[in-house]
Amino acid sequence: MSSHRIVAIDGPAASGKSSVALALARRLGFSYVNSGAMYRAVTWHVLQHSVDVREPAAVVAKLEQSTIVCELVDNQSRILIDDHDPTSHLRDDNVNRAVSIVSSIPRVRQILVARMRECAKANNVVMEGRDIGSVVFPETPFKFYIDASPEVRVQRRQAEGQRDEIAARDRADSSRAASPLIVAPDAELIDTSALTIDGVVNEIIRRLKQKGLPI
Ligand code: C5P
Repeated sequence: MSSHRIVAIDGPAASGKSSVALALARRLGFSYVNSGAMYRAVTWHVLQHSVDVREPAAVVAKLEQSTIVCELVDNQSRILIDDHDPTSHLRDDNVNRAVSIVSSIPRVRQILVARMRECAKANNVVMEGRDIGSVVFPETPFKFYIDASPEVRVQRRQAEGQRDEIAARDRADSSRAASPLIVAPDAELIDTSALTIDGVVNEIIRRLKQKGLPI
């Protein structure tokens, strides 16, 4: 087990995870790791190579031929695939549509979970995703599940000007066999519907102190 501290933030699409996790990482002086960006990056990569995402063997073969590097730059995760930085494409419509299909492939998860664990070996991290508290770091005592009402989540995506079928993604992410989105039994639940980002971060910090994290 890593001797570094890991704060896991899981939740459905547009629940506010990314903004909260980044702000929390800055407040704690931890590195911020966005695991959804890793699934998005490999999805973009296979789409770029015209791989049919409904063919798991083809997706896995492409990824196994590729060099996938996750690094921390200025305390934030960045993924490079075959030396390309896909950051500007992670929210493309075709990535939004395909990412839940690619992330349901067990071998894809295995490849990326290894990178996530690597990031936490030498760093204190706030990591956000769907299975961080349940599967990637089940042993961390610092895990949160953040949610918001479906209406608020749809409004948040629209305000970002994005076309993202979040209900369909949530259904796929919650019903897949491999590491589905679940509330870990020992996760702290926070409903962000009526809270600002700072409000959520303050609440998480309050609970982290209660759990003994020296802050
Ligand atoms: O967090 P974000 O919405 O960017 O994640 C994009 C997709 O990546 C999710 O809909 C899910 O399919 C996948 N994902 C996952 N496990 C994670 C993080 C993201 O399966 N830990």
